[in-house]
Amino acid sequence: MMDVIKAIASSIKNSKYAVAFTGAGISSESGIPTYRGEGGLWTKYDPNIYANVYYFNKDPSYYWNFFREVRFPMLKKVKPNKAHIAMAEMDVAGYLKTVITQNIDGLHQEAGSSSVIELHGTTRIIHCMSCSKEYSMDEAFSKLETEIPPRCSECKGKLRPAVVFFGETLDPQILRSAYEEAENCDFILSVGSSLVVFPAADIPVKAKQRGATLVIINKESTPLDHLADHVINEEAGNVLPQIVQSLKES
Ligand SMILES: [Zn+2]
Repeated sequence: MMDVIKAIASSIKNSKYAVAFTGAGISSESGIPTYRGEGGLWTKYDPNIYANVYYFNKDPSYYWNFFREVRFPMLKKVKPNKAHIAMAEMDVAGYLKTVITQNIDGLHQEAGSSSVIELHGTTRIIHCMSCSKEYSMDEAFSKLETEIPPRCSECKGKLRPAVVFFGETLDPQILRSAYEEAENCDFILSVGSSLVVFPAADIPVKAKQRGATLVIINKESTPLDHLADHVINEEAGNVLPQIVQSLKES
């Protein structure tokens, strides 16, 4: 594997504009369960109840109980792992311009990545659907002790997490900036994404079509492996620190 690591590091070093694209696999190494597949969150909690906009609008109390019992305790417990930290190191060293992520857990920012595009929003911000006032997770959680669903302190409006629910489209401005990154980059590192959810998985495809070098790091093979310049089927937490090390040595 060392030769591949060296080749990837040298490709990053020679790039003018390198970006990363990340999915659930990188967060699962921090202990956040993936959604689909064996042991996935959606095998225990029906996403049509807990993550669907129609259901949320009909009766948000299911979501808020889920937030209180599952989401909040999980997010308070998790920490960025070696893969998040390695990516933040590449950011600080000037190698990585942006991280485009499908994740909603905020772990890239917590690790120190300075430019993160969150395609599916973030659970860490809660906002009022009437006056847009923002609340932290802790503030929302403490509201849940007295009222479910919680209400805005300013205007009594309904609160919701700043995530994209099923049944909603991605924010067009956020999607546009992600596509711009895909068009401008000459290197893209896809980490922990099964590359099956579109339009998100379109981003590495677009980058590759525009001539960027594509590297895929994922535990399982992906439908885009045949397009990639390098594929490593291993945990990102094992691979990325080695790339950082190789960048330092070269
Ligand atoms: Zn409000």
